[in-house]
Amino acid sequence: MPRTPAPPTAAPPPAAPLSAPARALRKLGLVRDIDLALHLPMRYEDETRLAPIATLRDGATAQVQGTVRECRVETRARRQLVVHLADESGELVLRFLHFYPSHRKTLAEGQLVRVRGEVRGGFLGREMVHPEFRAVVPGAPLPQALTPVYPSTAQLPQAYLRKAVATALARAPLEELLPPELLPAGLPTLREALQFLHHPSPSVPLATLEDRSHPAWQRLKFDELLAQQLSQAQSLAARAHLAAPALHPRAGGLATQLRAALPFTLTAAQQRVVAEIGADIARPQPMHRLLQGDVGSGKTVVAALAAAAAIDSGWQCALMAPTEILAEQHFRKLVGWLQPLGVTVAWLTGARKGRARDAMVAQVGSGQAMLVVGTHAVIQHDVVFARLGLAIVDEQHRFGVAQRLALRAKLGPQSPVGAKLGPQSPVGAKLDEQALEPHLLMMSATPIPRTLAMSYFADLAVSTLDELPPGRTPIVTKVFAEGRREAVIARIRDEVAQGRQVYWVCPLVEESEHLDLQNATATHAELGAALPGTVVGLLHGRMAGAEKAAVMAQFSAGTMQLLVATTVIEVGVDVPGASLMVVEHAERFGLAQLHQLRGRVGRGERASVCVLLYSGPLSATGKARLKAMAETNDGFEIARRDLEIRGPGEFMGARQSGDALLRFADLAADDALLQRARALAPRLLADESQAAQAHVLRWLGGKAEFLKA
Ligand code: ADP
Ligand code: MG
Repeated sequence: MPRTPAPPTAAPPPAAPLSAPARALRKLGLVRDIDLALHLPMRYEDETRLAPIATLRDGATAQVQGTVRECRVETRARRQLVVHLADESGELVLRFLHFYPSHRKTLAEGQLVRVRGEVRGGFLGREMVHPEFRAVVPGAPLPQALTPVYPSTAQLPQAYLRKAVATALARAPLEELLPPELLPAGLPTLREALQFLHHPSPSVPLATLEDRSHPAWQRLKFDELLAQQLSQAQSLAARAHLAAPALHPRAGGLATQLRAALPFTLTAAQQRVVAEIGADIARPQPMHRLLQGDVGSGKTVVAALAAAAAIDSGWQCALMAPTEILAEQHFRKLVGWLQPLGVTVAWLTGARKGRARDAMVAQVGSGQAMLVVGTHAVIQHDVVFARLGLAIVDEQHRFGVAQRLALRAKLGPQSPVGAKLGPQSPVGAKLDEQALEPHLLMMSATPIPRTLAMSYFADLAVSTLDELPPGRTPIVTKVFAEGRREAVIARIRDEVAQGRQVYWVCPLVEESEHLDLQNATATHAELGAALPGTVVGLLHGRMAGAEKAAVMAQFSAGTMQLLVATTVIEVGVDVPGASLMVVEHAERFGLAQLHQLRGRVGRGERASVCVLLYSGPLSATGKARLKAMAETNDGFEIARRDLEIRGPGEFMGARQSGDALLRFADLAADDALLQRARALAPRLLADESQAAQAHVLRWLGGKAEFLKA
């Protein structure tokens, strides 16, 4: 290979600003040698062969080598550089519409050059437009391996990245950390696997690289899955060493009183889940439990009972919801349930500012407010709990990564200084020496399919509400083309005439909140005109908190019959009188989102209908989503199909940053590897804990934090 002058290799002095490509590397998270070594090609180029010019076929990408016969700038149609290249077999034209003086220098007459590009039949015969090219000396060797093409960015040229990866690969500590007998048989070492994947021999069947079935890929995927399992097993083990307040509610105390005061009896599933949570929080280790249950399965009352148990034991409880509307609804409900029993409930959202907020924060700090309900404002840094014993996160999949990390920080040790200990704390226990962590209950209406539960949520205990409260009539879902709009509006008229309430959800226009608003506003006007005598409300994300609350209150009270809304009503809103849900442009929504929206109706005893209006033509996935909605009401089945349609990457999008997702393994395809990794992780932690630590560090570096719940 001819050598271009090497860039200076000496490390820049520490204060020197990073070059643009170096900054781009950092941005991609490619910092350590191991990060670069694990940055694998997305495809390869075959530069190991030279094709005789005469054999070039139209449309093929090829590499040829020849001598420049002619190099001139043409100005007739459009200024361009036209180069005639010849080898023993024939002639090829190279065309450059943009070029620099350096092009003319390298491609001067008589130069021997190697070029690579796509061949097309041109006016003058075969040609390549803007091929890659470089001058070579006669007899210059060809690469022995395929040339990697890496995922990159505009500021990061392939050549720079290739060099950086090659250097890092040679330098990275890739020694085997795990005893070979514990690995699946027949796989190469990590070093061999990486060397191969960065520079595969041209004889490898490319399909085995593309579908990642090659043993080198298997090895990487296994190591990755193992790192994930180890990191979760570690966080589980670490939690066992942490102390939490053991919450033992009094017999006949708050929780019992609340249960007696409820206007319904708990379903068997609710009773079971309440008992599971009760047993967990009675232990002196922090609970990390996920409560999953389909929309409408009654998670809120379970949360309320857990809160009552915590409060009854003398500890505070925080309940966080992802939107103001939902937080407000929870607040009303919990005040209704718990205030009569003597519990002070505080309310904190981003919209609440100034003195009212200061007063609330003070109540939280003094411990006077036993239950704090709100949005993520509840975990803002200046909100300090006197003694937080239980944190509940509703619709946890809707919170962003940053908010989840903030919550985790907030969940750090509570300092139980003397008097601040709950009345139920064992007398004389040496708790003051040890900081206590609150228990954590996460709730989600998006059930996690089994494979995901085993991989991403291996460190969580899971409770499932697999039963809906009695008396619900299943929702009937109808999928209509936009042309049926008039008929749908007529249906609304009927519903309203019978004293029922209706939601009309307008779509999210991607990247345009403004258009969103216009749509919703226009639809609001349209429906108002079409339905004289009906009170039609409008709800969207741009409205002030108080405005939103006023509209919701009217709709909840039943004085408003039709509510036109954007997806702000998506999660959790509970108005049992609503029996018809219309979703406009349903094809633009995700499956989980549609299921959530549909869950806003069917909450009372009346038969409810969900109408999905779509505008064609539908994409294949759009069709699959609407079909799934029409075919099933079961949230678990919806989640399974969603996973099938979208793949785990997107499905999990909300749990953690994309970076921390599995990069190589595919849970559907690699179930066998996942099972091996799952079985091996606890053994390794027990018998080879140093190797296990080193393995996690190698794979996750600082990202291990993101993977925890
Ligand atoms: P989700 O699980 O979607 O959060 P909610 O907690 O909002 O569901 O409950 C849905 C509705 O069902 C609420 O109106 C709630 O009061 C009611 N509900 C909950 N549990 C029961 C029950 N055991 N029997 C009857 N109604 C119930
Ligand atoms: Mg809910």
